[in-house]
Amino acid sequence: MNTIPYREDDYTKASEYLRLVIAFLSKQTVPPSPLNFRIGYDYVTGRNQKLKASIDALLEAEPVLSTELLWEAYREFFIQDDAALENIRQELQNIIVNIQSEFENSGGNLTSYVNKLSHFSTILNSPISPEAMSIEVQKVIDDTRTMEQSQQKMEAQMSNVLSEVESLRKELQQVKEESLTDPLTGLSNRRAFDAEIEHHMVLAQEQKIPLSIMLIDIDHFKIFNDTYGHLVGDKVLRFLSATLKHCLKEKGIASRFGGEEFAVILPQTRLSDADAIAEQIRQSIASIELKDRVNSENYGNVTVSIGIAQCDMNERSDQLIQRVDEALYRAKGQGRNRVEKAA
Ligand code: GH3
Ligand code: MG
Ligand code: MG
Repeated sequence: MNTIPYREDDYTKASEYLRLVIAFLSKQTVPPSPLNFRIGYDYVTGRNQKLKASIDALLEAEPVLSTELLWEAYREFFIQDDAALENIRQELQNIIVNIQSEFENSGGNLTSYVNKLSHFSTILNSPISPEAMSIEVQKVIDDTRTMEQSQQKMEAQMSNVLSEVESLRKELQQVKEESLTDPLTGLSNRRAFDAEIEHHMVLAQEQKIPLSIMLIDIDHFKIFNDTYGHLVGDKVLRFLSATLKHCLKEKGIASRFGGEEFAVILPQTRLSDADAIAEQIRQSIASIELKDRVNSENYGNVTVSIGIAQCDMNERSDQLIQRVDEALYRAKGQGRNRVEKAA
């Protein structure tokens, strides 16, 4: 049985949350439509910590949320999980029901066939005329043929089932990948980063190998957006993602950490090497003149500030992120377009 979502919230609790959600949404001046409300509800109750962290990060970058930003979050947190998984669950259920009924049918056939064989063996042990014997033998041959045909049908059905299950497995894999991918840039999203950093920190600390991370933030991106528009800003985000991938190759895992911030995990990398990689990324980005391919409009250069930190042996991920964030903050304070190491 499925558990009913939000069932544990009784009338009093849910009414109190309702009040909080309305207050939250009206502070953000977004309408309490069902979609915004559901995000607001999970946000104020804190039942979905990942969603809360993602909204908090959005709020940091953009003090006032918009319906568009909430829709992005809704797509990330609810649609993929709800609709796609429900579809797959339903299809798997159908397959199982079909297999069960097939097995019941063929099980019935098999039992009656075995009974017929044992009846035949009794006849073999009794005095019987050759004519009667020949009739019995023909019956067994016919029954065996029928049985063989039903087995073949069953085999064909099983092979259909196998291919259906295989295609569902692929669909599931795709849903999983989509839920970990940022749709705008194609990089890993924050959810994927959170899982990856935990994994790499455990590995680095257990095996005592270095691990560094990098936090990249576009300089004065608000001004860029205000000057050229959000859509051009989005193109810049895609361009930066491609540059990051190009510079990193196999050296690191890049993800979109928040609005205009990117995080990079650098396994087996000391701070001094992370510094060299960060410098290369910073220079590559700063040196490229951005031009619109279609109308050749020139947007000048964008620059990024980068904080880097090497993971300490007893550190938790939130502490590491805090340190790299402070380094980034220092890079901004010291004039931007620079790399700063964490203390
Ligand atoms: P700073 O150098 O201090 O980082 O200045 P900034 O303007 O980059 O920083 P601020 O945090 O004030 O603004 C971040 C901007 O990033 C504001 C927001 O419009 C933009 N941004 C965030 N996410 C997106 C996005 O998905 N697309 C576009 N085009 N812009 C975004
Ligand atoms: Mg920022
Ligand atoms: Mg910025």
